[in-house]
Amino acid sequence: MGSQFEIALSVIIVSIVMFIASLLFKDKEGDKPARLAFRAFYFCTVIFFVVMSANIRSSTLLLDFFSDVFFALTGLCLTIGILWRCQSKIPLSFVCSFAVIYVITDRLVIESSVQVAYFYSVVNSLLCVYALLKRTQGSNVGDKGMALVILLNTILLLANLASFTGIISHDFSTQFMVTLFIFAPAYLAGLTIFLFSSYMLDAHKALEIEATTDPLTELYNRRFFFSESKRILSVAERHQEPLCIMMCDIDFFKKVNDNYGHKVGDKVLKKFAETLNKSLRSGDILARYGGEEFVALLTQTDKTNGFSVVDRMREQIENLSIETEKGSINLTASFGLCEVKEFQDIEVSINLADNALYNAKSAGRNVVKYYEHSLA
Ligand code: GH3
Ligand code: MG
Ligand code: MG
Repeated sequence: MGSQFEIALSVIIVSIVMFIASLLFKDKEGDKPARLAFRAFYFCTVIFFVVMSANIRSSTLLLDFFSDVFFALTGLCLTIGILWRCQSKIPLSFVCSFAVIYVITDRLVIESSVQVAYFYSVVNSLLCVYALLKRTQGSNVGDKGMALVILLNTILLLANLASFTGIISHDFSTQFMVTLFIFAPAYLAGLTIFLFSSYMLDAHKALEIEATTDPLTELYNRRFFFSESKRILSVAERHQEPLCIMMCDIDFFKKVNDNYGHKVGDKVLKKFAETLNKSLRSGDILARYGGEEFVALLTQTDKTNGFSVVDRMREQIENLSIETEKGSINLTASFGLCEVKEFQDIEVSINLADNALYNAKSAGRNVVKYYEHSLA
């Protein structure tokens, strides 16, 4: 293993570069600071390889102890980073105790020190792979790539362990050890590339959500509604399927703001949106059109169907009771409905549904009014 020192040097350089790259990682607000654990992982990797290289040149008990401690910390930091990032339920106390047990065991069994280290790495790697594939927010391609890189490393570790324990020929052990060492820079680079992609994909998804969603109600925004309805309208026209547009507006919402304050008004808007959303069927889209006005596109829905869906929404709003510090608030809303006849321009149907909504307001509110095309 004459090249061990050179390989260690290359791992140190790769780790420093990866540490710098990791400064770009940003965790979502409210999430655990996984990026700090990843930075600690690169830092500990550098220290581990420095200590190990020094230990290879002239071994001392102290250097040996430090190399064990930093080896334990390297595995621990990576595992904590991945568990935090994936919001895994695997308890931190377990991985921390496991690291301490590893260092103690490694000190006690000097003879089989390498096997104990491999065992420690295998367990941590499997925990990481499990967490990455079962990520609470859903695993993206970056997470799956990381899991693959870690699995490849685990296979090498297991093969090495097997050669030590005699399951496969002892001759392989040195060969595997060299392979493992040579794999280290690639492992680190591969891990970071996928970790980086995972963060980038998350950021991309967050931007996409931000661009298409209304932050208060978490419904689609007007812009997304227009672009998505264009697509739905052209499909409906091709298949000659009926479509309805619904517009609704909360009745006397200004009074809620005036009597309870803007903050409560926001809470009411959120609850209102949630209730509307619950009564939608899959394929329908609902968006906040502006202020306290909402718009929905009801797919495969004719006048009769649309009327019963929207009247059910109206009833659910009527039955909604929102608890506040100043007592409960009950609401009603007015609804305008229109069947889509003009498939090239959604705004035509939106205006007609808006006319029906105006009629609902004039008729005393808390009703659904339909726009009759024949009367136009
Ligand atoms: P109508 O039955 O005729 O619709 O009466 P209204 O009081 O609901 O209608 P108006 O258009 O006069 O008032 C709408 C109010 O909605 C005024 C505005 O302050 C409030 N509003 C619009 N957007 C928001 C918001 O994001 N949060 C809060 N809290 N209020 C909002
Ligand atoms: Mg209103
Ligand atoms: Mg309004």
